[in-house]
Amino acid sequence: MAHDEFSLIRQWTRRSDGQEGDGLTVGIGDDAAVFTPTPAMEVVACCDAMVETVHFLKETMNPSDIGYKSVISNISDIAAMGGVPRYALVSIAVSPSWSAEMTSQIYDGIHEACKAYGVRLIGGDTVSAPDALQLSVTVLGEVEKGRAIRRSQAKAGQVVFVTGYVGCSAAGLHLLLQLKGTGETIPARYRQLVREHQRPSAQVNAGRILQAVRGNGALNDISDGLASELWEIAEASQAVLSIDASLIPIREDLRFYAERAGRDPLDWVFYGGEDYQLVGTADAEHVGALQEQFAAAGIPFAVIGRVDAREGQSAVACTRGGRQMPLPKAGFNHFGRPE
Ligand code: ADP
Ligand code: MG
Repeated sequence: MAHDEFSLIRQWTRRSDGQEGDGLTVGIGDDAAVFTPTPAMEVVACCDAMVETVHFLKETMNPSDIGYKSVISNISDIAAMGGVPRYALVSIAVSPSWSAEMTSQIYDGIHEACKAYGVRLIGGDTVSAPDALQLSVTVLGEVEKGRAIRRSQAKAGQVVFVTGYVGCSAAGLHLLLQLKGTGETIPARYRQLVREHQRPSAQVNAGRILQAVRGNGALNDISDGLASELWEIAEASQAVLSIDASLIPIREDLRFYAERAGRDPLDWVFYGGEDYQLVGTADAEHVGALQEQFAAAGIPFAVIGRVDAREGQSAVACTRGGRQMPLPKAGFNHFGRPE
């Protein structure tokens, strides 16, 4: 790497100084971090990598957006287990076309996301890479012992739900690729779509509400598109999910842009990905309580289908206006070009 590794690490992580306390005994600066999990909780761990040109393009994401999103995609996985995110570790491989200024902006985004979700950066690794920048983030969280929400818990008779709005990130990326800009050139009415792509949110509060409701079913976060995530639940649970596409909430700006772009909004909803909303199943008797708690938290919650039992089958069936609609497993393709 062109820059001095140690001074870079120092510069990137200075903001994590003095973070010891509240379970963290040793933070950044030693060989490894040391922390004690909260009593009665168990540790939830996940890791997600982003590679330049595969997961993002310099043309559509500012360096700080890249850092921000790499943390969010991990926090989203913790949320999908019903957990609370606590700590992050970041491994970065820097290629020559990335200046010290740009990598430092990646860390601005990392710190911003950590701060927004109460996560502490407790370590990482720094290496050089020949061509593309690579960013790999690990997030450690906690969940009440034995209460992590698994993908495999969908049961016949439950309803299928989704939080928030899906498809917006893919529409935002489509806009960015069409208009060839990282945001400044985007008309005001579409800014929120672009923001969903560059600065997504993770649904930690939604995951916690679901975790607190006893007897709830399966849960998954939407990183690869709603269709692919539904299939993951169906296969892990050996269940048939029957979805009514007309029940999926679609945001007005997405609908509007889809019409202008000559696209079916459901293509982005089902096959777009990176929405980081939650999709899952719940007992019908809990739906009322869930709707109330989600409304109080200001998070959209929509029932979009049900779980059917069919001996030895796992599948996702979908109808649209009363007609069968094929819903293949296909998800987000890593070049992210929804053409
Ligand atoms: P070692 O050689 O013992 O692995 P390093 O010199 O790589 O240690 O790292 C020193 C400290 O800086 C460690 O606490 C490590 O976790 C942290 N660190 C290194 N790189 C990063 C990074 N990219 N982001 C955050 N922390 C980092
Ligand atoms: Mg060491």
